[in-house]
Amino acid sequence: MSRRTRPLAVALALVAVSSFATAAHADTSDPVSPTPVPAEPVPGPPYDAVIDLTFPVDGPVSLGDSYHDPRGGGTRWHKAADLGGANAYGLPIHAAYGGTVTWITGLDGAAPHATAGYAITVSGDDGRRYSYMHLGRQDGPPTEAYAHGIVRGTRVQRGQRIGFLGYSGNASPSWPHLHFEIEDPRVTDPYGTHRMNPYPSLVAARERGDLPLDGRRFLDVPATLAHHDAIVWLADSGITSGCGARRYCPADQVTRGQLARFLASALALPPAANPTPFVDVPSTHTHADAIARVHAAGIARGAADGSYGPNRAVTREQMASLLTAARGDALTSASATPFSDVDPASVHAPAISALHHAGIVLGSNGAFRPAEPVTRAQMASFLQRSFSVPAA
Ligand SMILES: [Zn+2]
Repeated sequence: MSRRTRPLAVALALVAVSSFATAAHADTSDPVSPTPVPAEPVPGPPYDAVIDLTFPVDGPVSLGDSYHDPRGGGTRWHKAADLGGANAYGLPIHAAYGGTVTWITGLDGAAPHATAGYAITVSGDDGRRYSYMHLGRQDGPPTEAYAHGIVRGTRVQRGQRIGFLGYSGNASPSWPHLHFEIEDPRVTDPYGTHRMNPYPSLVAARERGDLPLDGRRFLDVPATLAHHDAIVWLADSGITSGCGARRYCPADQVTRGQLARFLASALALPPAANPTPFVDVPSTHTHADAIARVHAAGIARGAADGSYGPNRAVTREQMASLLTAARGDALTSASATPFSDVDPASVHAPAISALHHAGIVLGSNGAFRPAEPVTRAQMASFLQRSFSVPAA
């Protein structure tokens, strides 16, 4: 998109570069004894490619494509993105990508950088460098520019708060803004530098809702969701990392294969010595390893026909049986369930009863809905109630 708006000066510079390259090539060519051409370095993505990052400002800011804007009276170009607004001072800045802080100014009594001001560079885990400039104000304290604990060498997670938007360095107090740069050694921009234009990636992040959300691990798990705390516990415990791209997919049904994986993780089950005996779980199945672990631990027994049904949605009554097996609950058929819709003769009734007495399944209006599928959100609560208290 920015190619359309490239200034004439850039186009002329490109012409100059390509004619130089042609001349250089002619000088070194040898028509008599061709020498092997050195392998071209693997080209990186285009300088204006959309890359996967989180929008770094938590709050309303304006954003334009200013990569090719001249600076210094036309002697250089901006080669960055500015995110700001008249009232944007103090908005939290979050890491667009995880990595390590390799440059940070104005700490330990040093003055902030004359032009960049209070500034942070994070060497990203993706090999790129992300720089955040003009944080705080030049004569203000570092605590107004940086989040607590951010120093050189700090590991930052993607989406973690690292600082506060400002106008330090040579930025104007009338328009506080974050000057955001991306550098990628594999990329060459039209000016021959290794900068990337952040604008297309920032627009894409904003459009897909990849915004910094303090304390919110998953974009699709708002604090108001009934099972929010359980899902956060599940993630904090390392039992889930979500369904990809900072999402948990709370409304998705849990398959029996996925449940095996959650249980194997929650119980830290050791690898199984043998593959599963289940006829419908080949070793190539995504959850074959987890199913083998829960089978070896005596938790999953499968059906009479030797199948496990790894891709079938797990029902609430099946989950009750798997959870009691995983917890090692004592099952007695004597204690009937209080649920009107649970057949006392059901093979799952003792498990449902045991979980009810343990306060793990609550039911609703006296019903348990044993044949209903379990959503990933509900499963988080079941798992938290089952495993968050250390076994006695
Ligand atoms: Zn800028």
